[in-house]
Amino acid sequence: MTPKANQEAKREVLDVCQEMQRVALVIGSSGNASFRIPDTDTIAITPSSVDYACMDTNDVMIINLEGDIIDGDRNPSTEHPLHTAIYKARPDVNAIVHTHGIYASALAVLQEPLPPIIDEFVIKLGGQIEVAKYGLPGSEELATNVVEALGPRNGVLLANHGGVCVGPSMDVALHNALLLERVAQIYLLASAVDKKKINLLPAESIEMQHQMFEMMKRVKKR
Ligand SMILES: [Zn+2]
Repeated sequence: MTPKANQEAKREVLDVCQEMQRVALVIGSSGNASFRIPDTDTIAITPSSVDYACMDTNDVMIINLEGDIIDGDRNPSTEHPLHTAIYKARPDVNAIVHTHGIYASALAVLQEPLPPIIDEFVIKLGGQIEVAKYGLPGSEELATNVVEALGPRNGVLLANHGGVCVGPSMDVALHNALLLERVAQIYLLASAVDKKKINLLPAESIEMQHQMFEMMKRVKKR
């Protein structure tokens, strides 16, 4: 670990938090993000209770995967168990964003999975997005539930809470969060018109896109 790598990771976290606020995936200091520092077991993660509008890189925390503080004067996000649990379970994941977008959260309130209804969805997110069973925010129980419901995919809904998306880079994790929010919006709109008329993608398309998803996961990139 070098100070330069830490600084770059802090910048990734700060930039994505401000972007998530700009596009209304979060408000105030809600939601959080983290970034795996290359070739280490440490991550940069959002501090707890600092408004994104006035956050700078010095506020971003560095912790290890056991949750110990390595660098920084604040507290790490209270949701850090969820982040460290995902990094331990998924070596292909280098970035995580946790969002409170309106449409993904509405599905999370319904505790209804998001099926594959739009092209690109399976390629990017890996298949039907499941709902993690409810756990208190910040609890180990929630972290366990999230890892289980995420599985090998790049997105998951958190019952009565919001969403989590992951990727090999921060740009991909953010894109996945925007895609999850967009498809959740499309699904809810179509459901409001006539849920019985919703068509899933054809099975052969889902299969082909799933193979591409798996292939892209094997191409390790940041
Ligand atoms: Zn949250």
